[in-house]
Amino acid sequence: MSTAPSTSLLDDRYARELPELVVPWSAAEAPDPQLLVLDDDLARDLGLDPDWLRTPEGTRFLTGTALPDGVRPVAQAYAGHQFGGYSPRLGDGRALLLGELTDRAGRRRDLHLKGSGRTPFARGGDGLAAVGPMLREHVVSTALHALGVPTTRALAVVATGGAVQRESVLPGAVLARVAASHLRVGTFQYARATDDVDLLRRLADHAIERHHPAARDAEQPYLALLESVAVAQAELVARWMMIGFVHGVLNTDNVTISGESIDFGPCAFLEGYDPATVFSSIDTGGRYAYGNQPAVTQWNLARFAEALLPLIEEDQERAVAIATEALGTFGRAYVAAWAEGMRGKLGLAAGPLAGSLEDEAVIDLGQALLELLHGARVDYTSAFRALGQAARGEREAFRELVLDLPAADAWLDRWLALAPDADAMDRVNPVYIPRNHLVEEALDAATAGDLEPLRRLVDAVSRPFDVRPGLERYAAPAPEGFGDTFQTFCGT
Ligand code: AMP
Ligand code: MG
Repeated sequence: MSTAPSTSLLDDRYARELPELVVPWSAAEAPDPQLLVLDDDLARDLGLDPDWLRTPEGTRFLTGTALPDGVRPVAQAYAGHQFGGYSPRLGDGRALLLGELTDRAGRRRDLHLKGSGRTPFARGGDGLAAVGPMLREHVVSTALHALGVPTTRALAVVATGGAVQRESVLPGAVLARVAASHLRVGTFQYARATDDVDLLRRLADHAIERHHPAARDAEQPYLALLESVAVAQAELVARWMMIGFVHGVLNTDNVTISGESIDFGPCAFLEGYDPATVFSSIDTGGRYAYGNQPAVTQWNLARFAEALLPLIEEDQERAVAIATEALGTFGRAYVAAWAEGMRGKLGLAAGPLAGSLEDEAVIDLGQALLELLHGARVDYTSAFRALGQAARGEREAFRELVLDLPAADAWLDRWLALAPDADAMDRVNPVYIPRNHLVEEALDAATAGDLEPLRRLVDAVSRPFDVRPGLERYAAPAPEGFGDTFQTFCGT
């Protein structure tokens, strides 16, 4: 027997505490909802019965069209800098917050829908989402989570049975997304722009309570909030850099206060290593290129700091000086997180020689390696697995990838002298990532009605570190020529 959720499942605390930042709204009807994918483990984690979610009633719950009594969905307001230009009013144009759940670990999680119809924030948009981009969010968030990267999650994707007009007519979908919260830098920008300092303070208090409770006891809680968010974002971006992830649209409305990855619409993973890599069709200036992500995140945090200024100090000139100083936290935290990540990838986290290595030495070694990889545009993911083999005494797999063999040998000698731990490397360097050609293949098939390639891809990337026979094609770079022309689209 399957169990429907209780009426008290979803708490509307955000709407109660911050009514100025929401608009109560309802999901559009879905003509013929069909569940495409469901994350059973995540459902159970949230106290939801996967068997019930698979029933027609459960599937309608996942599109927001049949909600337990008392659930009051809202569209959330936010502003944001998009590609550097400020928009005072973005908000959930095609999304709704259903409410907050408490998971089995006692954490509060947002349950949110994307593609659920137009809201008062829709501007010119149709409020809809297509199957492909919503499944992309499912594939990529599953991979990020399995790779240990903080991320919003996809509970389910439901095909609505309706059509969406993009460049062609596509099947519509609703994504049921789970997040630590949907508080964005843009949420603070919106609150700040109202000139209602009490609202801004309530928002900041809400964020502190929910994500950075230690800040409450600091001498200056709002400054501590800024520093905590800077650290969370520094650690997040460092993790993206370690796995070769390009978010694609790092606007301030797509930067969370929690430190989770969110709204990675045109995202993709690097293949041949090049910091200038851009995949998004709309990022013509390369603002959100792989190698720019740390700098652009720091820029986004400066916008967060500006929004917090009235809470930091009455004298705004002094507030700017204090906030600027606090923003230095980002750079320090990023360098430390990068060094820690690279230490792990190079198998140098422990051991008599490696364990005592200073961060600067790890950074120097890591950067020398990246230069080698850049020179030959070596497949980033394969390179670190090949290094795992080199740590076991078989250098050839790595040497075959690079062009400058004397430089490669010199680097290998320098690194191997530190006695790297090959098994530890294989636990952090993935074999399977959602490679762009495989994602395209899976999404194209799913859009045409065949979910099998998607299931196989999700299976591969949900256990990214264990080599499994039969999955060779999921570990191989794209066929020659694919990466040169590959572009991603926001799908909006
Ligand atoms: P995104 O790039 O997905 O983070 O979205 C940026 C802004 O555009 C947000 O305010 C979205 O709610 C809004 N938006 C994106 N696509 C649509 C759509 N199809 N209909 C209405 N609003 C949209
Ligand atoms: Mg967004």
